[in-house]
Formats: sequence, C-alpha cells, structure tokens
Amino acid sequence: MIHLTLMIALMLMPKTYRVTAYCPCKICCGRYADGVTASGHIIQPGDKFVAAPRNIPFGEWLTIPDYGRVQVKDRGGAIKGNRFDVFFPTHQAALNWGVRYLEVRR
Ligand SMILES: [Zn+2]
Repeated sequence: MIHLTLMIALMLMPKTYRVTAYCPCKICCGRYADGVTASGHIIQPGDKFVAAPRNIPFGEWLTIPDYGRVQVKDRGGAIKGNRFDVFFPTHQAALNWGVRYLEVRR
C-alpha cells in the first residue's frame, strides 16, 4: 500500500500557498471596488480577512503567518489553486506585503 502511505504523508505535510495582498481600491478590485466583498461582508475600518479559492467556504478560519487568524470573506476571479489574497485597508499596505509563500493552516 505504498500509494496510501504516500497520500497520508502528503496530507500531513504543511502546504505552501502563494499569498498576495489587495485593498478595496479600483486598481485591486476594478469594477468590484464597492466596499462589499463577495460574501456580502461590508468592509470596515481595521478589517482583516482573506480571499480564498472556491473550494474553501466563506466563514472558514485560516491561520496565515505574518497576517493572523482570519475568516474567508472574499473571492476573486484571479484566485485559483493554492493561493490566497489577504486584505489591507490601503493600497500601499497591500504593495508592502508583496508576494509571500506561506504555510497556511485551517
Ligand atoms: Zn489597491
């Protein structure tokens, strides 16, 4: 049962995700820059949340190193596969985050 052993090993291995950042501005959100996320959440000052791929439901808690333990509250057309988008209140803060490869845990 080599396959099963390998599968379990892969499941237990921490997964590395590409984590980018965005803010509510037009550059980041285009025509969706209306202050409301895909889950219907109204963006508030000091908000922290993450946009996730479709296979992770809204409201799920994720621990993102350097960012915190936050809920999934948004989606993005560009968000596919092993990647996340963390939310920042300003475009500069999102730029400062850049692109990070992190072990995101559920
Ligand atoms: Zn922006």
